[in-house]
Amino acid sequence: MNRLVFATNNAHKLAEIRQIIGHRFEVLSLADINCHDDIPETSATLEGNAEQKARHVVDHYGLDCFSDDTGLEIDALGGEPGVRSARYAGDDHDSERNIDKVLRLLEGVPPERRTARFRTVICLIQNGALHTFEGRVEGHILTERHGTGGFGYDAIFEPVEARGTTFAQMSPEQKNAISHRSRATAQLMRFLSQK
Ligand code: IMP
Repeated sequence: MNRLVFATNNAHKLAEIRQIIGHRFEVLSLADINCHDDIPETSATLEGNAEQKARHVVDHYGLDCFSDDTGLEIDALGGEPGVRSARYAGDDHDSERNIDKVLRLLEGVPPERRTARFRTVICLIQNGALHTFEGRVEGHILTERHGTGGFGYDAIFEPVEARGTTFAQMSPEQKNAISHRSRATAQLMRFLSQK
């Protein structure tokens, strides 16, 4: 069976991918290939970071690999936090502080100017060729938190396809039906299943 590394150690993301392409590809995590490197993510773009991670595995381990990178892009903040989404308020990756920072920066910005999107980029390097896939979901940033589910910025993000509800108020199934990540993953799956 063809081997493919997914440059992650996130068990949830791995299980999801394995469920879909596990019968065609042996999907390995970073831990599975004994990669405990601190892989640099120093690019200014999601595309660049995703490629950096995949290329690290290809160059150092000689295996085909894909990786993902996600960011929340807020138009009134010039596309921030973007690549800095995980550590917008500091290196401690604290989602509550990240949300507080966004709400503070958007104070006084009217609803129609609070547009934003989640964007996921997946970079696949297979047989030396690079392929990029993207998924996005458009929405608005609310003025306060709603809901307790999800993670990251979910409690302040209201997708246009589900007005009146934040990601944090949805079931995982509802979120997966429209999310940036599932859209990007679906494209990767479509590509891999054509091969
Ligand atoms: P990653 O590239 O998947 O690690 O995502 C980077 C950061 O973006 C995370 O640490 C979260 O702050 C944010 N993020 C990514 N996906 C989501 C999501 O589905 N909901 C809310 N925040 C997210």
